[in-house]
Parts: sequence; C-alpha cells; structure tokens
Amino acid sequence: LDSTKDEKQLNREQQILEEKVKEEEKRIKTIEQTRKSLPVYKKRTELMQMIKENQVMIIVGETGSGKTTQIPQYLYEDGYTQNGRYKIGCTQPRRVAATSVATRVSDEVGTKVGDTVGYTIRFDDKSSEKTEIKYMTDGMLLREFLTDFELSAYSVMMIDEAHERTLSTDVLLGLLKVIIKTRSDFKLLICSATMNAAKFSEFFEDAPIYNIPGRTYEVELYYTPQPEANYIHAAITTVFQIHLSQGPGDILVFLTGQEEIENMAENLAETSNKLGNKIKELLICPIYANLPSELQQRIFEPTPKNARKVVLATNIAETSLTIDGIVYVIDSGFVKENKFNPSTGMESLEIQPCSKASANQRAGRAGRVGPGKCFRLFTKTAFETEMPDNPTPEILRVNLNGVVLLLFSLGITDIWNFDYMDAPSSDNLAKSLSLLYSLGAFNENGGFTKIGRQMSEFPVDPMLSKCLLTSGEMNCCSEVLSIISMLQETSSLFYRSKEKQQQIQASREKFISKVGGDHLTYLNIWNEFVDSGYSRQWCHDNFVQFKTLNRVKNIRTQLERICVKQSLILENAQASNISRDKTILHVMKSIVSGYFWNVARLNRGGDSYKSLKKNQQVWIHPSSAMFKLKPPVKFLIYNELVLTSKEFMRNCMPISERWLSEYASHYYTDDELNEGGKKK
Ligand code: ADP
Ligand code: MG
Repeated sequence: LDSTKDEKQLNREQQILEEKVKEEEKRIKTIEQTRKSLPVYKKRTELMQMIKENQVMIIVGETGSGKTTQIPQYLYEDGYTQNGRYKIGCTQPRRVAATSVATRVSDEVGTKVGDTVGYTIRFDDKSSEKTEIKYMTDGMLLREFLTDFELSAYSVMMIDEAHERTLSTDVLLGLLKVIIKTRSDFKLLICSATMNAAKFSEFFEDAPIYNIPGRTYEVELYYTPQPEANYIHAAITTVFQIHLSQGPGDILVFLTGQEEIENMAENLAETSNKLGNKIKELLICPIYANLPSELQQRIFEPTPKNARKVVLATNIAETSLTIDGIVYVIDSGFVKENKFNPSTGMESLEIQPCSKASANQRAGRAGRVGPGKCFRLFTKTAFETEMPDNPTPEILRVNLNGVVLLLFSLGITDIWNFDYMDAPSSDNLAKSLSLLYSLGAFNENGGFTKIGRQMSEFPVDPMLSKCLLTSGEMNCCSEVLSIISMLQETSSLFYRSKEKQQQIQASREKFISKVGGDHLTYLNIWNEFVDSGYSRQWCHDNFVQFKTLNRVKNIRTQLERICVKQSLILENAQASNISRDKTILHVMKSIVSGYFWNVARLNRGGDSYKSLKKNQQVWIHPSSAMFKLKPPVKFLIYNELVLTSKEFMRNCMPISERWLSEYASHYYTDDELNEGGKKK
C-alpha cells in the first residue's frame, strides 16, 4: 500500500514539475512575442548599425515604441558590456519610471532585479557587481560623477526622456559633452518623445537623429464648454460618465500630485461602492513619483474581463510609463511645478496650466491600442490662449543650490560658462552662490571649503546637509538625522481615512511638540517607533503608515553612513546622553544653522507671517503642528513654501530671534532682525 502511495506522490510531483516548465516556456514565448511586436524591433538592425557608426545619437519615438525597455537590451545582447566589464546605463527623470522599467526588463531578461538588470534611485540601490543594464534616476548619475568623473564603468549611456529637460538631465548633458571628447569608446544616446530633437542634435554638434515610427490611432478631443471650477469633481463625474456610457477600455486621468490622487481615489471608491453591483467593477490604480514600488506594478496588470481600470496619474504617465489598454484619457490640464524666484529667494510648488505639448502627449495615450477619446477638462480657448507651447526647462525655474554645489565639487568653478543647453539666469546662479557662501561652502576668495565638500556628499538639499554638519558639532547628530530622514517622507506619514479622521487627528496631536514645532513632532514619532522595536502594531495603533516609517528607517541608515564617515556621529550611536532639554535646544539650533534663509515673522495681530528677508506674506500650512497654535509664535523657520490657495509654509519650527543673531548675523542686518525688512 505504502509503495503505491509513494508512486502516486512521485507522479504528482513530476506532473507539477512538467506544468511549471510549460508555464515558464509559455511565459518566455509571450515575452518574446511582446518584444517582437514593439515598433523598435523592426528597426533593430538599422539602429544598432547606426549606433556602431556614431558616437552620439538622438533617438526619437512615440511613447510605447520600446525605446526604454528594448534598446538597452539590444546593446547588451550585442555585447556592449563585454561580459560584465562595462555597464549600459539608462537614466530616467523619475524614480517610479526607473524602478518599474528595471522590473520589467529583469523579467524580460529572466533574472531578478539587482542581478543582470538593476536600478539605483536615491536611498534605494538595487544594483550589484553583476549588473550590466542599470536604470537610474538622472540625479543618481550626477552623483556618480563625484566618484567616477569619466563614467569609466559604462560603455553606453542612454539619457532617456531628455525632452523632460529636468535640471539633472540638463546638467548631465553638459558633463557628457566633455566625456565624449575624452573617451572615444563611449557611446551616448539621447532619447526623447517626439519633440525638441533638433535642439539636442544641435547641442551635440549635429548628431544624427533617428526616428522610430510608432503606431498611433486617432484620438477624438472633447473640451468643456465652460471653465471647470473644480477639476477633481469634473474628473470624477467624467469617469462615471465614461464608465456608464462608453464601450470597453481603461481610463487614464492626469492630475497634479499625490494628495489629489489619493483624494480622488478615495472618492471614486466610495461612489462606486454606493452604486454597488449596479455597475461593472472599477479598479482604481494610483501612480505618482513616490508610490511605493510594491504598489507600482498594479497599473500594468491586465484588467479582468468584467472590470474597468482607472489609472490616476501625475504627468509621469505622459511619456515615462506606457500603460497598455488605455482608451480614454481625462486631462485636468494642470501640472505641479517647482518654481524659484531668485529676486525673492522664494521657492514654491505651484499648480498651473500644463503646456500644449504636454496636453497633446496626454491625449496621445488614448490612441495606442485603437481609436481613443480624450476629455479635456478645460475650454478650447484656454488651450489656445492660456497654455504655453512647451514646458519651461527646469534649469530656468528652480533653485540651483544643489547643482552649483555639485559642479564645484567636480572642480567646475566657472559655473557661468558651463556648457548649458539653456543657460540659467545669472541672478539665479548668483543667488545659489550667495546661499552656499552663507552656509560656509566657499570662503571669501570663492574657494571651495571643507564644509562645502562635506555638504556635497549628502544626497539632500545643501541646507539640510548643513544642519547635519552643525549637529555633529553640537552632539545631536542622531536626532537631526532622524528629523531629516522623516522630512523626506512627510507626505504619507499618517493614514488618510474620512471615517477615522477624528481618531487620526487625536493620534497626531499626541506627538505634537509645541516648543519644537513640526521638526520635533517628527522626532517624537520616530523615537516612539524606535522604542516600540519598529513595531507594525505600534504604527497601526497610532494611524501611522508602517511602510513610510520603514522607508524613513532606510533613508536614515544611508544618511547615517555618510555622517559616520565624516565623523559627525559614532557608528551605532544611541541618542546622546546629555539632558533632553539641552538636546532639544541643540537640535533646533542645528536646524537654524541650515535654514536661516527661510525665516518668517508674525504679522501684527494676524495669523499670517512675513518672510523676513523679502517681506512676502505667507501662512502656516494646515497640516502643520503649529497651525492655529495659540498664541501664535513670533518667529519661525519653514522647510518649504507651497503655493496652492495661499503661500503656505510647510514643516515649521518656532525659533528665537536670538538664535538668528547667533547663526545668521552674517545674513540678516540688525534692522531686519529688529524691525522686519527695513534695510540699513
Ligand atoms: P518607450 O520607452 O518607447 O515609451 P517602453 O520601452 O517604455 O516604450 O515600453 C514598451 C512596452 O513595455 C509597452 O508596451 C509597455 O506597456 C511595456 N512595459 C513597460 N514597463 C512595464 C512594466 N513595468 N510592466 C509591464 N509592461 C511594461
Ligand atoms: Mg520610455
């Protein structure tokens, strides 16, 4: 009896094995078929020949033609890595794009992420010795220049999504132009959606432009007859109109940011729950820059037969990610952009109309699988008169502190004559120099200092790295590290839920530090999480997102390594053993030492503030621990300014005027400190 049982068992196992192999073969076949069906495949031989013959090439193609996923694989298959001696690099402006494409290509190559195919994004490195195809954010490649000025690890670099003209991409283009002159064995590919190609070619001494013909179908455009007062409401209504009255096909909605996307997702889910099984199921999939990678892959999963997928995306889905199966696009017509005004020194995130080029790219997403429809939540007149033709390159509108610091640490001190594709204004460059000077990165003669070098090693804003340097001197590096790590992840710290709003609010309030504002509040949350033994249950009980705190933990570990290397802290240092009050004071002073540019003073009798240097009216953000605090504090420091309905200061900390004289006497005049804005 026993032997027949054994035999049966063996049989079953053999069967399972066979099925597994079959499945694997089927998977490989599907992958091969998909790869061969992409437009770039037909051009493979020609394209590879051109790359062989030219050092620099501009490659242009419709979104979804296979540039990002295929070209690095072709190069790999054609031996450009020389069996692991070199890597093939590919940059992406966005983290999500880098991780998601690396995951996909690993799948196609048939290895785990981090083996043959890997990625590197800030605070998350999934690459190894074995990695031969490396996807990374453009910002990470910039940092690689610090240790490898010739990019000697790479035989080919593909600068992808170059049309996005992010700050890092623009600086990379200037640096790469030097490399191609010194390394004749190095290939450079500039990839872009169908715009701006000529400009790239010109910049690289008339490098050839190669076009990958795409397939696109007709997309019908619909405008709203009247301007929409609230594009979120309009978008929700449109989703249901499509869902109830239009044929099959998934929906892609373009919004401006995470908060909007999460709110709309919640709202859609509620409404569709209420409608119950009167309607087909709606699968709601958010996608934005900081979406945790375990949730990203959902947008690519095929939609089940009886459901419709609604993807809620930022402009990340414009060209960086292709989602198959989209037939309907809903376009808010807005984009969130970082803006810096060098004359006021103010940086702000602004929601504003996107460009015509963006709107057309967005519409194009509806026409990949067949004829599609694009519902524009703006009027035709607005399109024609209010939207600029093209987006403004980031280098012309953001603060350049980080870039100027990086260029200096690469030994490029003549930042005025650096080879920019579009040169930033000299006002803006001067502003950055002056900020970095006030932080101590340069001496009076314009020479780069030790402080400057130390600051440039941290992959965070120079103002934040300055706080870390000071904290090292003041024996509170461990605490400041925690705060700075928390500051990287504040947007998704607490759960959002309409039903439990009160409980969540009550939980938040437990952590609030009146004396130390948001910064010390974050420290309280972090410390309790550590005391709980990094417990998931603790997070659950306090309505804090476990995943977010885990990311903070990871960020903290990585920043700590740099602090240890710079002897700002001892390895595995516990919280300092000086008194708690003293520590708090030192933590706050450390933050002042980096953020004295962002000081605001309470207006007489009001709830609004004025920025100290420029007298601009600003308000405390409702999410702040200091929002509606009674009595309001007189002076505060803020980490960022966000322009939505008002100019809001986010992440605020109360400060004493005395600390300003202590840390910023070189920056503020006595009158500014005492009177508010009156210059001597
Ligand atoms: P391009 O760079 O030219 O816009 P891609 O190489 O990104 O094109 O896309 C080629 C194909 O690969 C598309 O059909 C896209 O849907 C698919 N793809 C890309 N990333 C993923 C992913 N993470 N999961 C599943 N499919 C993906
Ligand atoms: Mg691409």
